[in-house]
Amino acid sequence: MKAITLLGSTGSIGTQTLDLVAQYPDRFRIVGLSAHNNIARLAEQVRQFKPEIVAISNPDKLGELKDAIAGCDPSPRLLAGSEGVCEVAAYGDANLVVTGIVGCAGLLPTLSAIAAGKDIALANKETLVAGGPVVLPEVKKYGINLVPVDSEHSAIFQCLQGVPAGGLRRIILTASGGAFRDLPIDKLSSVTLADALKHPNWVMGRKITIDSATLMNKGLEVIEAHWLFGGLDYDNIDIVVHPQSIIHSLIELQDTSVIAQLGWPDMHLPILYGISWPERIYTDWKPLDLVEVASLTFKAPDHRKYPCMKLAYAAGRAGGTMPAVLNAANEAAVALFLNEQIGYLDIARLLEAVCDRHNTIAQPSLDDILEVDAWARRIAKEQAGLSSATVAV
Ligand code: NDP
Repeated sequence: MKAITLLGSTGSIGTQTLDLVAQYPDRFRIVGLSAHNNIARLAEQVRQFKPEIVAISNPDKLGELKDAIAGCDPSPRLLAGSEGVCEVAAYGDANLVVTGIVGCAGLLPTLSAIAAGKDIALANKETLVAGGPVVLPEVKKYGINLVPVDSEHSAIFQCLQGVPAGGLRRIILTASGGAFRDLPIDKLSSVTLADALKHPNWVMGRKITIDSATLMNKGLEVIEAHWLFGGLDYDNIDIVVHPQSIIHSLIELQDTSVIAQLGWPDMHLPILYGISWPERIYTDWKPLDLVEVASLTFKAPDHRKYPCMKLAYAAGRAGGTMPAVLNAANEAAVALFLNEQIGYLDIARLLEAVCDRHNTIAQPSLDDILEVDAWARRIAKEQAGLSSATVAV
């Protein structure tokens, strides 16, 4: 029986993780939950999964949460704010923490869980992109397992099982191509928020859906892969567009053999592997049918149409605090786009402008990362011509 604490329980990753806990009650139990705003869904989850401890990161919502779960038996301990989430992350006998928080808000809770000796099933890629230089040494120091949940990284992780040290030569991340994959480049200036939120293959949270439309998601994944897989050189992490999202990623070995992991585009599978690793659990889900899939196609990524990928490679290669700056600027830009305060093409322009103004700190401390994160959010708003008071990012 794995005891799981789930951070970001009300989101896309969070609710799918709970689907699995409900489906396999003899294998998984919930110790702690956290959410940010969605009290109705969180209260429902508290009733169903009976956690011992719950945090709401938006402290203004604590009263509402208390009211919503009044009369729950047993009644969980309730905490609020980012500190509350960190306490939940480190709490009790949970042996695995699933990080389904969106954005760099997941960094401190992840560090807190690691310091408490919990294994991590990591969905929250922004934590590794921004905090790689401080997270990886902590993973080593506390000897915990960091298992990827992101479908591409789960695929690579699965392919790597049994590959001896030094056997990996190259990683090939597949990309669906996002909402605008079939749209000519000259039409991008007139796309709307609603257009960008229509992902062809995956149903996900709003932020990652926009990241998919700009292909920044793939850029973030390149940096995530660098940190997850032994600091692999950026020259050996490639992207290929694969519109069917059946091959979730591939590895090339030293002898040029290529291994891929395949499956339907459904996050339940990588989440299940993330929480059950190293075991393989039987499911009654529809098996992959290659005849039904019929055709798997591939093309090179279009860097002119999607400049965010190159920005991510450049930030990854610059190292230090640059990826944290890129990530924070992207979080700010996506929030502005979601509020319809900037256009789609402004996102990449903002990221480039913010990164251009930053001199990377080569070996950053946690404080350096938090400081540049706040700086980049502020500069992104300034660049967009908005004062900090105009919009909360
Ligand atoms: P969602 O937006 O659906 O959910 C985000 C979760 O984080 C919610 O529980 C939300 O709470 C909580 N949250 C939001 N802001 C904060 C904050 N400031 N502090 C603490 N908690 C917060 O996101 P997804 O589930 O789509 O994505 C989560 C992470 O997983 C992201 O890093 C994403 O890149 C990654 N990922 C997601 C995939 C997917 O299929 N969705 C696939 C691969 C990776 P509330 O609902 O109460 O606001």
